[in-house]
Amino acid sequence: MTGKTLAALIIVMAAVIGMGIGTAGAGVERLYVLDCGENLGKDQSRWSPGINAGKPIEFSDNCYLIRHDKGLLLWDTGIPDSVAAMPDGMVVANGAITYRRSKTLAAQLEQVGVKPSDVTYLAVSHTHGDHVGNVALFPTSTVLIQGAEYDWAMAGPAKPAFGSTQKIEKLAGDRDVFGDATVKIVSTPGHTPGHQSLLVQLPKTGWLLLSGDAVHFQDNWTHKRVPSMNFNRDQTLASLKRIESLLEERKAQLWINHDKPQSLTLRYAPAFYE
Ligand SMILES: [Zn+2]
Repeated sequence: MTGKTLAALIIVMAAVIGMGIGTAGAGVERLYVLDCGENLGKDQSRWSPGINAGKPIEFSDNCYLIRHDKGLLLWDTGIPDSVAAMPDGMVVANGAITYRRSKTLAAQLEQVGVKPSDVTYLAVSHTHGDHVGNVALFPTSTVLIQGAEYDWAMAGPAKPAFGSTQKIEKLAGDRDVFGDATVKIVSTPGHTPGHQSLLVQLPKTGWLLLSGDAVHFQDNWTHKRVPSMNFNRDQTLASLKRIESLLEERKAQLWINHDKPQSLTLRYAPAFYE
């Protein structure tokens, strides 16, 4: 091999390696866990029929901000920010649940240097009030929601307050949000007609599956219990099976949104996961 050929080969190899590094560096850069409130349930058995009847339960309620090199995605918006100014919280579901918020979503976004107009995609797991409380805060974001969920919610008594300028993209199943398979909405109906969960690949943390309300807490996950208020029991059980196989396939962690003991182990914004 001549010196010239060797030099050419080195240049080609450097280019190949460079391309490889370029590809690996793209994708999800970080994920922030945001405190989106707390739900106090009067009676745990509302979520676990026949178990712990009459016992109160405290739920965490998280939102997640994902920074991808192609944009920002906010997963769920939590309890309305206005609840932060209510010293006794807000009572909902005929007294069965009390919402509380110690800090607003707006303030937490500001703290990490994000303006609502920076949020490219606003994806909601489903349309219950503790997940869509702040959808109107993001007038320029594209909303990613299952068509089945949107149609069901807008026909019901508690319509989510979507902004008139928001582009609503009605999904019919899974969606690879940024086209590189690192942030994937997965259809997990049952809790509501168009419930969805989120599968995320972080460069250091690895795969995470954000549950939405596919399951509410660890004990229900272990025993595959279905809350009595769920829209469809069979769909719920099928979705739990689907989540189980996704976790196995990707060696993913399951982050159960409302599981307070698990949430207490997470690092909240301004800290983040990479
Ligand atoms: Zn729910």
